[in-house]
Amino acid sequence: MLENKTGMIFGVANQRSIAWACAQACAAQGAKLAFTYQGERLKENVEKLTKDLEGALVVPCDVTNQADVDAAFQTVEKEFGKLDFLIHSIAFAPKEALDGEFVMTSREAFTTALEISAFSLTQLALAATPLMKDGGSIVTMSYYGAEKVVQNYNVMGVAKAALESSVRYLAEDLGKQNIRVNAVSAGPINTLSARGVKNMGAMLKHIAEKSPLRRNVEAREVGNTALFLVSDLSSAITGETIYVDCGFNIIGV
Ligand code: NDP
Repeated sequence: MLENKTGMIFGVANQRSIAWACAQACAAQGAKLAFTYQGERLKENVEKLTKDLEGALVVPCDVTNQADVDAAFQTVEKEFGKLDFLIHSIAFAPKEALDGEFVMTSREAFTTALEISAFSLTQLALAATPLMKDGGSIVTMSYYGAEKVVQNYNVMGVAKAALESSVRYLAEDLGKQNIRVNAVSAGPINTLSARGVKNMGAMLKHIAEKSPLRRNVEAREVGNTALFLVSDLSSAITGETIYVDCGFNIIGV
């Protein structure tokens, strides 16, 4: 499905990362992939995980550093010559902002969370566009806390709302170049980032009881949806937020 396609994947921290599930799904369909990591401490992890993927590139990229972003795209252009898709699977908020009341969010926590978790999508889309010479597809990861109040999710919910809105504005801007932009709204999954949200265990239990499918989503299922969105099977879908949450979002009382 993705033979002769090249993709860039942001956000692999370890084997539990949603980005890694996306990478596995895309690699299995023949995509050639470039991975970015943030900081030296993750370099070894990402290199180990990707060592069996033929032709995979691994490049550093902290999205708060524009020079890193520019260098990462230059390397991809030099090595791959073009880019067909980009998967954005990164987010960050200071731990103290993910506990207690949203009203206590500091200016610094707000700015950091919005910059890394929302603005970075626009930043990466702008850098990717010149490489997407034959059109392309950009996918990001969101969460239900963007639209409903989820206890302790706080400023990340506000960042995800900005992210989902950015998806729509980017879809309109980039559609002229046949570049599609979509979000996947995933149900909670026990990853490194998710552990930063207090009471994650209780949330997983609640969803397993209340969602129509009576279980939690697996990272593999989010990866498969990302694969669909970067493939030509979704060629008329853009600007959307697609739920992969075992149906939890449809439930009222
Ligand atoms: P991970 O911790 O595995 O992935 C988050 C990634 O973001 C890490 O690789 C992290 O690197 C990276 N990151 C943080 N700050 C920066 C930065 N400044 N520059 C570049 N990369 C950075 O967790 P997930 O796989 O759970 O998260 C992936 C995405 O999925 C996030 O957007 C998250 O909000 C979203 N999501 C997660 C859900 C869940 O329940 N797990 C549910 C719905 C959406 P580092 O470790 O170095 O900080």
